[in-house]
Amino acid sequence: MSVFNNALAQLKKAIQYTSLKPSTLEFLKRPERQLQFSLPITMDDGAEKVFDGFRVQYTSARGPYKGGLRYHPQTNLDEVKALAFWMGIKCAVVNIPLGGGKGGITIDPKKLSQAELERLTRALARKLAPFIGPEQDILAPDVNTNPMMMAWIADEYSRVVGKKVPGVATGKPLEQGGSAGRTEATGQGGLYVLNELAKKLKLTPKKTRIVVQGFGNVGYNFAKLAYQAGYQIIALSDSKGGIYSKTGINMDPDNVMKDKKARGLIGGCYCIGSVCDCKNFTAVTNKQILELPTDILVLAALENQITTANVGRIKAKVVFEMANGPTTPEADEKLAKRKIIVVPDVLANAGGVTVSYFELVQNIQQYYWTEKEVNEKLKPIMVKAFNDIWNKAGELKVPLRVAAFVLAVDRIGKAIEARGKF
Ligand code: GLU
Repeated sequence: MSVFNNALAQLKKAIQYTSLKPSTLEFLKRPERQLQFSLPITMDDGAEKVFDGFRVQYTSARGPYKGGLRYHPQTNLDEVKALAFWMGIKCAVVNIPLGGGKGGITIDPKKLSQAELERLTRALARKLAPFIGPEQDILAPDVNTNPMMMAWIADEYSRVVGKKVPGVATGKPLEQGGSAGRTEATGQGGLYVLNELAKKLKLTPKKTRIVVQGFGNVGYNFAKLAYQAGYQIIALSDSKGGIYSKTGINMDPDNVMKDKKARGLIGGCYCIGSVCDCKNFTAVTNKQILELPTDILVLAALENQITTANVGRIKAKVVFEMANGPTTPEADEKLAKRKIIVVPDVLANAGGVTVSYFELVQNIQQYYWTEKEVNEKLKPIMVKAFNDIWNKAGELKVPLRVAAFVLAVDRIGKAIEARGKF
């Protein structure tokens, strides 16, 4: 299954509702530039290995390319291309002046030592150096990459160009020019969107059950913030499996995280320290978690989780996409037919890149904001994006995703057309 074909299918659907020139749309169907690198490094045992790295710079019509870097064994050019396209759409959805890009290395980072990962990341930064920078292309964390890796990239890039340039990557540690609130930003932005949706659907947090697939930075922070806001977290899972609160007891994601750290996985029982409750909680697989009865199903893992194979068994009233591309286009249509609301990734998880934009602005200004200031700036952006999309969906009588793509494609297309001929 080509993820990029999924992305193109979404683009084609949105195109019908815009009045952009056909040539503009042709331009949008292709990335502006795609880069592929061989990354040779020496392993700790002295062996030499070569890895494959990619960076796709999809659109710069609205600003420099922007997007994360992922380390995953299944990462390939097709996937990175789709993710780069979605970044462009996402930045346009929240109306920040950035384009879309994405990068990746085909690798299982769990199999490399910290020192090997550092050599690999710095090797990539050196190869990328001519093509990136605060005015060209800005990197960020994504699946299996973290603030420390962003610090390595900013440091290596700064060495190559001979000056300190923190704005080449966002999502850095605070000590290296990171922004307050960036770690929680994707979850925080998602919660602002969820609260707006709850108002429209007249849901009260206390009576709203949430299932979260994925317990990385995004899934964990979203679950934690939703729990703190009073929503009922009834199931959580990581890549190895999950737990379901069969009696409906609200679970504290912080306790689950403590357990995961102590025992290495979420599964079977719900433990605090060595005290485990195996009566009220049951183990679920990552497939089963998707099919649990719930109000909100949060997808915070990887792409292609809801497909034609399982869409008929989804019992949630709302599918909330905190991961990128977790629903295939065919499954998306089936969900729409079943009147299940899908809050699309390009809206639900756009809080991350919005605070990345704030980080870039702070790096350029050399003037830093508090977490409170960051969240005060993030909230109105997410609230406006949600309401614009909700209203557009009502006006066009289309699902939220189509409305989001129509708004975003129109913004990108108008930026292309406003600069004249290409
Ligand atoms: N990787 C995140 C995303 O997919 C964040 C990107 C960024 O901050 O540039 O939205």
